[in-house]
Amino acid sequence: MLTIDGSYGEGGGQILRSSLALSMITQQSFCIKNIRAARSSPGLQRQHLAAVNAAVEICQAEVVGNQLGARELMFRPNKVQSGEYHFSIGTAGSCMLVLQTVLPALMIASGKSTVTLEGGTHNPFAPPSDFLEQCFLKVLKRIGPGVELELERAGFYPAGGGLCKVSIEPSSFGLRPLEILERGRLLNQEAIALVARLPKSIGEREINTACRILGWPQSSRSVREIDSPGHGNALLLHVEFENVSEVVTGFGKLNVQAEFIAKKAAREMKTYLASDAPVGAYLADQLLLPLAIGSGGVFRCTDTTPHTLTNIHTIKSFIEKEIKCEPLSDETVLITIPDT
Ligand code: ATP
Repeated sequence: MLTIDGSYGEGGGQILRSSLALSMITQQSFCIKNIRAARSSPGLQRQHLAAVNAAVEICQAEVVGNQLGARELMFRPNKVQSGEYHFSIGTAGSCMLVLQTVLPALMIASGKSTVTLEGGTHNPFAPPSDFLEQCFLKVLKRIGPGVELELERAGFYPAGGGLCKVSIEPSSFGLRPLEILERGRLLNQEAIALVARLPKSIGEREINTACRILGWPQSSRSVREIDSPGHGNALLLHVEFENVSEVVTGFGKLNVQAEFIAKKAAREMKTYLASDAPVGAYLADQLLLPLAIGSGGVFRCTDTTPHTLTNIHTIKSFIEKEIKCEPLSDETVLITIPDT
């Protein structure tokens, strides 16, 4: 049985989620200690518990320690079963991070799956559904599996209540290697503000502020008034290139001015655009696992974050692969994941 130290590096929930995914794929049991030790509320929070229970369900695993607040967990996987699943987080915890746990195993299972998720769809410190759709899943499709995400209702903190359906079709030929070294031509840029049960003017202030900083035209701006059980707001800055897309998100917060949210997101997008690396920091940490369990690949990213380095460490605990991060002279980083 492998022992994973949940306090390593970033010391957050991703160590747990990646370990669950890798355990199901490699069929190695593991025990994780110090779960989320580097967070102010360590141990399993509801969203992490939902991820553990989702993993247990898709492979009928034996588990010890799947309780709120637990700092240790033992997980012994069985064969992953494709099928129809419904996972409800019960709070505004991120649906997308529960999906991050089960998707790698389901995308190489023996049949199609449909996963319905209820909870948060636009949470700070997690990928919003738009990031998965526009950015992560587009790249994932290039290595083989067909994954479609349909957002039926958005869920924001603290009310949650979002709903999305994900259909997963494993590829018949396994996973192809991936190469993303250049962005290619710019195809589209847009600033979209989502507002739920809040004045539309909040969204208008956000898109106008962000687009002024970025120099984006009027035609690239829109405000979408959407349905959600609670109040919510997110600003999405999306650039689409021939080979890759990036989505930067500003999450609206009570008592924080729309202009502040927009300026921060616009600066983040400016930093991405100033580099010419195709893969942004979030996409980089999220691509590692699908490439490591498949035929590997090589991509150039803006930088290596603690999440990326920690995820590499977790992957290496389960799979013997020498993942290389090479800083290049243009300050971008080349990440290489070997085939075998
Ligand atoms: P905690 O750290 O409290 O346990 P957590 O479970 O959310 O929280 P992390 O280890 O911080 O776990 O992992 C967060 C994941 O969400 C990472 O994969 C990161 O790439 C992704 N992520 C965070 N913010 C964004 C964002 N704005 N856009 C896309 N992805 C994001």
